[in-house]
Amino acid sequence: MKTPAQVTASLKRRLGVCVDTTEKGRWAASFDSSKISFLPDAVITPRREADIGVVLELANKHRVPVTVRGRGTTLMGSAAPVRGGWVIDMLRLNKVTIDADAGMAHVGAGATTATVHRAAEAQGWFYPPDPSSKEYCTIGGNVACNAGGMHGGKYGVTRDFVIALRGFLPTGELVQWGTATKKFAAGFNLRDLWIGSEGMLGIVTGAVLKLVPLPAARWTLLTSFTDETAALKAVRALFRARVQPAICEFLDRESVLCAQRATGKTVFPGQAGRPVILLELAGSLAEVDDLKMEVLAWAQTSALAYKEARSRAEVEELWAVRRKCSGAMFELGDAKLNEDIVVPMRNYEKFARYITKLKKKSGLPIPTFGHLADGNLHVNIMYHRADAAETRAAEAAVQDLMETVVSFGGAISGEHGIGLAKTPFLRLQHNPAQIRAMQAVKKALDPRGILNPGKMFQEVRIWKYPKLQLKLPWDHK
Ligand SMILES: Cc1cc2nc3c(=O)[nH]c(=O)nc-3n(C[C@H](O)[C@H](O)[C@H](O)COP(=O)(O)OP(=O)(O)OC[C@H]3O[C@@H](n4cnc5c(N)ncnc54)[C@H](O)[C@@H]3O)c2cc1C
Repeated sequence: MKTPAQVTASLKRRLGVCVDTTEKGRWAASFDSSKISFLPDAVITPRREADIGVVLELANKHRVPVTVRGRGTTLMGSAAPVRGGWVIDMLRLNKVTIDADAGMAHVGAGATTATVHRAAEAQGWFYPPDPSSKEYCTIGGNVACNAGGMHGGKYGVTRDFVIALRGFLPTGELVQWGTATKKFAAGFNLRDLWIGSEGMLGIVTGAVLKLVPLPAARWTLLTSFTDETAALKAVRALFRARVQPAICEFLDRESVLCAQRATGKTVFPGQAGRPVILLELAGSLAEVDDLKMEVLAWAQTSALAYKEARSRAEVEELWAVRRKCSGAMFELGDAKLNEDIVVPMRNYEKFARYITKLKKKSGLPIPTFGHLADGNLHVNIMYHRADAAETRAAEAAVQDLMETVVSFGGAISGEHGIGLAKTPFLRLQHNPAQIRAMQAVKKALDPRGILNPGKMFQEVRIWKYPKLQLKLPWDHK
């Protein structure tokens, strides 16, 4: 039996310079955006796809934990190597080729989402999934987390744009789920099993992505409402009228005030401190013109006030405020529990009333914003981490929120996944039979449990201690 150091040394002999065992390299790969750090033994940056097969074969043989890493932007601790071992950094596998005839992108897993956007747009195509982290995050990470964004309601999320995937099973065998064709009905659909599997069932090396024609026209409208319940009620009327905006972003009063203070700009002059909904229509000129009339009629009857963006600069100004609101919240506390829950549309008003109650009950600011076209709302519980009472109140508020969204028929996560941070709540969403089925799939594809171990199924109450570097009992060293 070889020691972990001996196995790493033999990997280094086989792959050479792409294996980094320096403290600096290991530290840089030890955490993701959850800021929870666990030092790996080595970081491997493959130069070619086949290197990954070599790494996995060796890891599987010697039971070395392996964690795949895109850009580490996940907020859930899912890219943190909680059991040490090896981290595979995918950034060099980043080639993007557009098949402009077929409307498909062939993408290396390490390419950033924004690179795909730009390459597609240069050829008149559009790749709609647009996580706010798009300039940094990778397509491999997007597939692994089934990332979404503002365009989710009309176009869908990453899952809706993956035609085929290529990569490795944890045993080191190369596999391909689907081909670059729009139809494929040959065998089990294991492609979809990989999507959203948080790097626990296989390593994606490449994806074929579906593109749609780049919209010729866009039109943006800002609306304000008396309160949150009125805003969420009004938006249901819009969808009932079969209007599908490309983007439908909600900012509650607290989020608006934070964004205003951070940017020094009034979001909606004359309507300061009111919740807003920012709408964007996209499509052909005729389609947008048509829908515009319907949306304006809706705004006249439902909104307190509304204003069209008259120029690209005005549109940009509005989106800049929306993009700022998440960071701006740190004026309310130095710690944030950002919960990306999903609420069914039928319960929108009930949810708005619930958040008002939760703020009162916890005594904490809870600015809430998000995507109303698909019910994916970001509930931000703000507190000061040095204040024990606030920390306890934040913890209780998260638990309350999770129980409530599930009781409303919603989901504990719409984008970010489970990772480490949401492990205490998986049992709320899934019954024991569902969890056993997921674990059986994991066991079948990863019999030695080497790929991203310690995630999803083991309950870790780490989110309570965002700054702590916990040493977990199952640490292999
Ligand atoms: C400021 C900010 C804004 C964000 N906004 C959004 C948003 O709007 N929408 C949204 O959905 N998310 C958002 N996120 C979360 C995050 O950006 C996404 O989950 C993203 O998809 C992660 O990509 P990544 O390349 O950084 O992956 P990482 O963080 O490196 O990894 C995430 C998970 O994917 C696995 N993984 C990575 N690459 C591969 C691969 N090639 N094969 C198999 N598994 C792999 C990892 O093991 C890990 O489990 C945001 C994060 C931040 C910090």
